[in-house]
Amino acid sequence: MMQETEIPLLRVSRLTHYYDYIVGCRNVSFDLYPGEVLGIVGESGSGKSTLLNCISARMEPTGGSVEYDTRAEGMRDLFGLTEAERRMLMRTDWGFVHQNPRDGLRMSVSAGANIGERLMAVGARVYEDIRESSADWLSRVEFDTERMDHLPSTFSGGMQQRVQIARNLVTGPRLIFMDEPTGGLDVSVQARLLDLLRELVDDLGLSAILVTHDLAVARLLSHRLMVMRGGEVVETGLTDQVLDDPQHPYSQLLVSSVLQA
Ligand code: ADP
Ligand code: MG
Repeated sequence: MMQETEIPLLRVSRLTHYYDYIVGCRNVSFDLYPGEVLGIVGESGSGKSTLLNCISARMEPTGGSVEYDTRAEGMRDLFGLTEAERRMLMRTDWGFVHQNPRDGLRMSVSAGANIGERLMAVGARVYEDIRESSADWLSRVEFDTERMDHLPSTFSGGMQQRVQIARNLVTGPRLIFMDEPTGGLDVSVQARLLDLLRELVDDLGLSAILVTHDLAVARLLSHRLMVMRGGEVVETGLTDQVLDDPQHPYSQLLVSSVLQA
């Protein structure tokens, strides 16, 4: 996975964000390689979402840089891109799965249209093709396509999450950001959705950055883990190493579940 000859897909250097004088995240650096899933774990308030939002260009950081290996021009500094270039990345090469489906779906249009409009945003025009791709992706996430013309509000949380995932994958992205993707769901629904996510990531060879406070979720999906505390990374390593033999005292507490809600 991390061959030295390989170019990282994403390079984060000394990324820092302050909300006025409050530290969101500080001095975070890492490389993400193609096909790699990085889990970011830590307690509530440790800076996970701030970091993810800065990396995915949803928020401009106070300092540091994020470079991405764009298809057209290779490594580019995200914040040196034009707004239009960034928006294009977000629509095509990237996906973002929110904890709350309402943040990632358009609730006023059907499940099928939620997928279809992403295709139209990248130039698809033929109705039959759009409908067929939408149905395809909905079945890949185990969504009953007979309900594709219904509004998201008529679905369970787990089904809404499936639609959100399909909407994100339909454009063939290389990198998916996920912020607590199964956080709001019942444990039984979570389990199947996590398996599905893992299968999709494997099958499609996706790279992903997953934020979660749930170490079981992190273990299931991530190759590598970064443990955050107070906005900073305290430990990073292969998932099994970090969870089975944490080195930093804070990671030890986290893993021993003393800190878990
Ligand atoms: P996590 O996702 O790990 O729960 P966050 O990134 O949301 O952590 O928060 C990191 C720190 O930044 C916390 O101290 C939080 O209170 C603060 N913070 C987050 N969002 C804002 C905001 N919009 N304004 C001010 N402070 C914020
Ligand atoms: Mg958060």
